[in-house]
Amino acid sequence: MAASYLREEHRIFRSSFRKFLEKEAAPYYLDWEKQGLIPRDFWRKMGDNGFLCPWIGEKYGGLSADFGYSVVINEELEKIGSSLIGIGLHNDIVVPYIYYYGTEEQKKKWLPKCLTGEMITAIAMTEPGAGSDLADISTTAIKHGDYYVVNGQKTFITNGIHADLVIVVCKTDPQAVPPYKGISLLAVERGTPGFTRGRKLEKVGLHAQDTAELFFSDAKVPAANLLGKEGHGFYSLMEKLQQERLIVAIAAQTAAERMFELTKEYVKNRKAFGRAISQFQTIQFRLAEMATEIALGRTFLDHVIEQHIDGRDVVTSVSMAKWWITDMAKRIAAEGMQLHGGYGYMEEYEIARRYRDIPVSAIYAGTNEMMKRIIAKNLNLS
Ligand SMILES: Cc1cc2nc3c(=O)[nH]c(=O)nc-3n(C[C@H](O)[C@H](O)[C@H](O)COP(=O)(O)OP(=O)(O)OC[C@H]3O[C@@H](n4cnc5c(N)ncnc54)[C@H](O)[C@@H]3O)c2cc1C
Repeated sequence: MAASYLREEHRIFRSSFRKFLEKEAAPYYLDWEKQGLIPRDFWRKMGDNGFLCPWIGEKYGGLSADFGYSVVINEELEKIGSSLIGIGLHNDIVVPYIYYYGTEEQKKKWLPKCLTGEMITAIAMTEPGAGSDLADISTTAIKHGDYYVVNGQKTFITNGIHADLVIVVCKTDPQAVPPYKGISLLAVERGTPGFTRGRKLEKVGLHAQDTAELFFSDAKVPAANLLGKEGHGFYSLMEKLQQERLIVAIAAQTAAERMFELTKEYVKNRKAFGRAISQFQTIQFRLAEMATEIALGRTFLDHVIEQHIDGRDVVTSVSMAKWWITDMAKRIAAEGMQLHGGYGYMEEYEIARRYRDIPVSAIYAGTNEMMKRIIAKNLNLS
């Protein structure tokens, strides 16, 4: 059953986006995985065809598309492969910070380039010594006249190599009490003196997704690049992290659905003991369990997406969707690989790649332990 937030125009859009991906991404995806990078050229093609940030207002060159289009884009990207998550990050996670917290000048300067793919974005929160405990970051940005002088290091940054504009979470007031009140967001552009990139990190999965270290050594960032008010960065993050977590849940749900289809197809074709293994009741029951979990995930996810579109407070429900769906997708991956037998362990089978790709969804955008912490806090237990 189609979700209530998807209408005929979303279906038409999905079909044309799928055709685009079949031509421009699917044939090259495995090469991109080997090269460890999605070529910039593909970003430009996405932009040229209106698939980057279509939700941006017409005033800045966008289509004012509703969130249903974002759901469709993220689902179709995930069907090709999980390494395309960096595009969803640009579209629905990073650029919204510019759109909602940027000044008119910042929006006019950056948004049109974010739409065309000329400018790729990233968000840098995590540091070698601070991930879940965001208020404990040590990157500082101290104001000197018209500039902030930024010092510190970030790691695990998605789109870190490609990024032309990085939203850096830093402390403009390192002495603030409580510490989160000293956090601000600074947009740091490629070429900023003192801003360098470190290694492109080797990961267990998401091989085509560039994930990098970033270094700031007396980096001189114009004061005009502050996003939102000084000291308000933590509040901005808390607001926008909900959509980030929702995007991760959407990708994980789509991955689970894809892995189920791969497994179903496989067991129908694989023969053992004179018949298709799908005819053994034990296999049927496992497929039945997988299908049930996937249906539960989809129903809840669609409900949360509707709440989000309605502008309701989704902090608790997004946290629930994020931890449960990503955990469920990990179970589907393990079961899918098992039911593929030895072939499931071979790189040439998609289930093997998906098995490697899925665990990170329970780690980034806030670990699943952090999600349960949020849910528990909102249960008013103490
Ligand atoms: C592929 C990839 C891409 C990423 N992309 C980005 C990005 O674009 N930008 C960015 O800023 N970051 C990014 N990250 C970082 C990611 O968000 C962090 O890794 C994550 O938030 C966890 O932080 P940590 O790695 O420091 O783990 P830690 O915070 O050190 O946690 C270690 C373990 O302890 C648990 N833990 C910590 N505190 C508690 C507690 N109070 N109660 C119970 N358990 C606890 C955690 O859940 C986890 O299991 C990315 C990470 C990966 C792997």
